[in-house]
Amino acid sequence: TNRFNVNGVMVSGDHFIHGTRVASAETFETRSPMDWDTVLGNVARGNEETAQLAIESATTAFSQWSGLSAKERAVYLHRLADLIEEHKEQIANVECSDMAMLFESLNLRLVPRGAANFRNYADLAVEHEERVWSSKGTLNRVIRTPAGPAVIITPWNAPFMLSTWKCAPALAAGNTVILKPAEWSPLSASVLADLIEKAEFPKGVFNIVQGLGSEVGNALVNDPRVKRISFTGSVPTARIIGKAAAENIVPFTAELGGKSCLLVFADADIDAAAKKAAGQFDDSGQVCMAGTRIIVEQSIKDEFLALFNKYADQHVMGDSRDSKTTMSAMIHPVHVDRVEGFVNRARENGDTILRGGKRFIEGKLWFEPTLIAPKSNQSEVVQSEIFGPVLTFQTFDTEEQGVELANSTVFGLSGILYTGNKERAERVGRLIRGGTIWVNTFLVRDLTAPFGGIGLSGLGREGGHYALEFHSDLKTLQILEG
Ligand code: ADP
Repeated sequence: TNRFNVNGVMVSGDHFIHGTRVASAETFETRSPMDWDTVLGNVARGNEETAQLAIESATTAFSQWSGLSAKERAVYLHRLADLIEEHKEQIANVECSDMAMLFESLNLRLVPRGAANFRNYADLAVEHEERVWSSKGTLNRVIRTPAGPAVIITPWNAPFMLSTWKCAPALAAGNTVILKPAEWSPLSASVLADLIEKAEFPKGVFNIVQGLGSEVGNALVNDPRVKRISFTGSVPTARIIGKAAAENIVPFTAELGGKSCLLVFADADIDAAAKKAAGQFDDSGQVCMAGTRIIVEQSIKDEFLALFNKYADQHVMGDSRDSKTTMSAMIHPVHVDRVEGFVNRARENGDTILRGGKRFIEGKLWFEPTLIAPKSNQSEVVQSEIFGPVLTFQTFDTEEQGVELANSTVFGLSGILYTGNKERAERVGRLIRGGTIWVNTFLVRDLTAPFGGIGLSGLGREGGHYALEFHSDLKTLQILEG
């Protein structure tokens, strides 16, 4: 079989279908962003035939998996969570090479979160109580039934965490899964497949298909045997998937991009706000929830900028395996070109580059922490998602103006607000458009809370029972009493 060494871990480049590794005649190369000249390995490039095989597998396995009780399924999910915890370092080693995510973030935060996702959904599905009541002489019962095979399509940033976040509710709800990882970071999902095998899930319950979105992804979402589609990625792809879902009348969720605000009032802890603002450069800005538009009350502008620069200067660009590194290489040369293009156009358009603005080392994939004061709110760097270490800086005089600026894009994924006034926190927090608004903090997550976007940031909510509901068909069972 096609296995290669990634940071000391032997990773399979094949698909995982019906409990076995399946190769494809064609492959694509995967490389580490830190060392672009070296090929990590060749990954199976799935096609329509691969998609058919995986859907067949998931369809066959569905009758058995959906027939188990939530409690029986929970045993598998907890066993998988145990295995993720046991193999934490291996997973972190693979992803810190394949995606260049920081080893420490993976080891301390993102991989444990992957295990927590499975535990959380295993327990939530068991705790769920059916609604039962009497009316009009009948006993009514709302039953949540598994929907069928679910296709789950994930993006290249935070691939391990996101695939567990999206697969766990599907499996807990009784659906079988076909996971399609992004072609720019396909490897941690393959490690997950090894653990699924170790956890002895029934064959076909969990399948992984590798390949390009336009090829294998397209074939997956168009198949009428697929009953749910859960997608995280870009708006253009969401439109394609939405059309496929509409054709088959299948529910889908889409978690898309963001251009979230980081709104700072003069009554805030300015040091804490500036530190968090500079923290938006973490992961080289490849974070959908990042507060990329810094919007600060005019009266604290200079003080804020001085503190922001102090913290931004503390970033260390380096190897993702090094614990001193805070900003690693970006995912792909094509992506760095895109980010550089945004900055170059901003310069040409008369926006002011306040810091950074270029690659850290010519020809490599690190980009300097960059702050831009736009000429106007309509500047491209303010209105478009850049997905790199590029933030914009704007000011406001009144609360109303601040909120107006915060809400002035087509996106609405999240928002960050800094204020020392509790009433303002509530008031402005309710006014900012977005699925998640953090006040005086960022990224703290309760897994039972809903997560998703407004506007072009997406459709539907994941998290907690919201995702279980999405993956189920609700049935009302009515029995004549007496
Ligand atoms: P990003 O900008 O994050 O790369 P994409 O939407 O291009 O966003 O990719 C997100 C995921 O969607 C990836 O796994 C990709 O392979 C997949 N994808 C891309 N195009 C399609 C498509 N036409 N059908 C299904 N999946 C697709």
